[in-house]
Amino acid sequence: MTDDAGVDADAETDANDERTADPEVPADPEHESEIPEDHPRYQSLLTRHRIEHGVDLGITSKQGLIAEGRGEAFDYLLGEETLPSADTAARAAAAHLLLAEHPVLSVNGNVAALVPGEVVALAEATGADIEVNLFNRTDERMQAIADHLREHGADDVKGLTADGRIPGLSHERAKVDADGIGGADVVVVPLEDGDRAEALGAMGKTEIVIDLNPMSRSAQVAAVPIVDNIIRAVPNVTRHAEELADASDEELREIVEAFDPEAALADAERAIREGDLD
Ligand code: ATP
Repeated sequence: MTDDAGVDADAETDANDERTADPEVPADPEHESEIPEDHPRYQSLLTRHRIEHGVDLGITSKQGLIAEGRGEAFDYLLGEETLPSADTAARAAAAHLLLAEHPVLSVNGNVAALVPGEVVALAEATGADIEVNLFNRTDERMQAIADHLREHGADDVKGLTADGRIPGLSHERAKVDADGIGGADVVVVPLEDGDRAEALGAMGKTEIVIDLNPMSRSAQVAAVPIVDNIIRAVPNVTRHAEELADASDEELREIVEAFDPEAALADAERAIREGDLD
């Protein structure tokens, strides 16, 4: 009896060892390089670390933490990977950006914390401007985000002049640069709030939205909704833009016209509803 119990206990210890055999993550990593890349939750741990660091730097608001939590839940349901339909959307987004007269990438506190260098790379690949655009706008946060983007290689960061307005929004939330989002024909608005996404659409701008929730209003009003985690989506759009760099306008237009936003949203919703949660 005692022996059996001993054997069982050993077996259990072995099983536990196997379950906890994941590479160790420091309780409070100071730098993201301390998170082991082979950890099964690497992407999620990296995201959490970047967002937390963003709050420490004064880039991300506390509300941004909540928005990230909501995003993580959807990412979990989507299997934490890029759906083929999201990849098609990323390609259509790249084609739109390459065809645009004046493309602009809108950056808020979560975007700046999660993908600063990746946004700069996308701007370089597509000739887009970068503009800081905040829901909870304060001068300190605007400045901190602009500095953070410059540290990651951005030459010119718009958003601080705020001499343009988005019609239909209250004062602070309406502010944009007249020669930035105000004058853009195509805007990438990742993690945007629904009101502003609707108002930008009403201004006639082509909107590319990156949002993990296919039911969010922002995703619903977008010409191109990319239902994917921003940390995967931004580099993916850049990759497509680099691949399409030599494509003719006709080829780019074909890609744009073949894209169906409703089908992309429906596919993401189906993946969430029918996904395997093992
Ligand atoms: P709406 O008004 O459009 O319904 P919302 O009120 O849900 O938007 P927020 O609470 O500001 O908007 O949340 C921002 C959105 O960003 C959420 O839909 C969330 O799923 C999404 N999101 C959060 N983190 C990420 C991320 N890392 N990648 C992509 N999307 C994300």
